[in-house]
Amino acid sequence: MQEIADTASPRRLAVLGATGSIGTQTLDIVRLFPDRLTVQVLTARRNVARLLQQALEFRPACVVIEDTEGYRQLQEALCGTGIAVLQGEEGLCACVQRPDVDVVVAALVGFAGLRPVLAALKAGKQVALANKETLVAGGALVRETLQRHGGRLIPIDSEHSAIFQCLVGEASSAVETLILTASGGPFRTRPLETFDRITPDEALCHPNWSMGAKVTIDSATMMNKGLEVIEAHWLFDLPADRIQVLVHPQSIIHSMVTFVDGSTKAQLGIPDMRLPIQYALSYPERWEAPHERIDWVQLGQLDFEAPDPARFPCLLLAYEALRRGGTAPAVLNAANEQAVQLFLQEQIRFTDIARLVETALEHLSEPDSVPSYEHLQDADLRARQYVLELSGVAAH
Ligand code: NAD
Ligand code: MG
Repeated sequence: MQEIADTASPRRLAVLGATGSIGTQTLDIVRLFPDRLTVQVLTARRNVARLLQQALEFRPACVVIEDTEGYRQLQEALCGTGIAVLQGEEGLCACVQRPDVDVVVAALVGFAGLRPVLAALKAGKQVALANKETLVAGGALVRETLQRHGGRLIPIDSEHSAIFQCLVGEASSAVETLILTASGGPFRTRPLETFDRITPDEALCHPNWSMGAKVTIDSATMMNKGLEVIEAHWLFDLPADRIQVLVHPQSIIHSMVTFVDGSTKAQLGIPDMRLPIQYALSYPERWEAPHERIDWVQLGQLDFEAPDPARFPCLLLAYEALRRGGTAPAVLNAANEQAVQLFLQEQIRFTDIARLVETALEHLSEPDSVPSYEHLQDADLRARQYVLELSGVAAH
């Protein structure tokens, strides 16, 4: 693994997906700690205006954009600044391997994160991972790459950060079960017979967290928790039957670990992603920061309930994909990404998401212990096309 700069010199970041929810909150943390963190790389899909504004504020060595027109505009706007402009997936994979990058923050969304994360790990980088789809689709390949090249993964997702924090100082043999908490999203108590009529606007209103559109819809279907079960499996090396999900509507306990002696540790905090982002960047240290503290008396009580499988079938589908292994989680992920996009475009109903994912999982998944990147990419593409065909939207 590339040696991380010692604590006296700032950690040099590549922020992939800098214009999104996690990306902009990562930059909030950089603003809080200008002596400890610097930005070498910023990337976005197509939001030129925000990426340009960020580039002028943080003065990275390079920026990367997916969109061709955006690439042209950025080249023009950054001409003479000394900031290099790269494009597309090739640009992403090149920038994460730069010798002047210590930590890659993977805050882009979807399967698109897998190749750049693999590239970063191959260069021995530390990866602060928000992009859970990378581990869902390519967990076995990511693990193999970590073993071969010695990079490191630190979770940003709040549940996994909580578990990571609970495990500090503990032997892996001491762990009995992981308990992932879930808010239950906006439809925890909505009458089930009205789920057919859920609109994108209703599903985009999360009770506790403000996040990007894709993860917000995943939270409403609870596919998000299913993806997190798979993410936890690869991060912490436990089988599906030792990873439980518990609904906790206040989102104060971010997750828990029960140990073999019967003791349980939990990590708590207000629902603010800047806390787990900061921990991923400061680890193994903790840096003093003015984030809001919990007001225990005002909080009063914490509630728990079991997840309702009839209400949230996506959660069971994710467990099923994890049990099947091979390309099944990649199929689940791709079918879900495509179905969520169709739901946001009002082309399918909310309840169609689980139905489409289930059919894709049934028909397309193949056993293979460590699918190659090309195999995963093929599974991803085929699952997206299958969902488009099933839903009556022409595949291109
Ligand atoms: P977002 O939609 O707000 O931002 C996504 C970012 O990725 C943007 O900068 C966008 O330009 C970029 N991007 C999107 N598609 C891309 C592509 N194909 N190629 C290159 N760049 C692309 O998403 P977000 O809410 O910040 O979520 C990012 C990741 O973090 C997701 O995997 C999500 O599940 C995870 N996550 C988010 C939160 C949260 O609070 N937002 C919490 C936990 C985990
Ligand atoms: Mg989460």
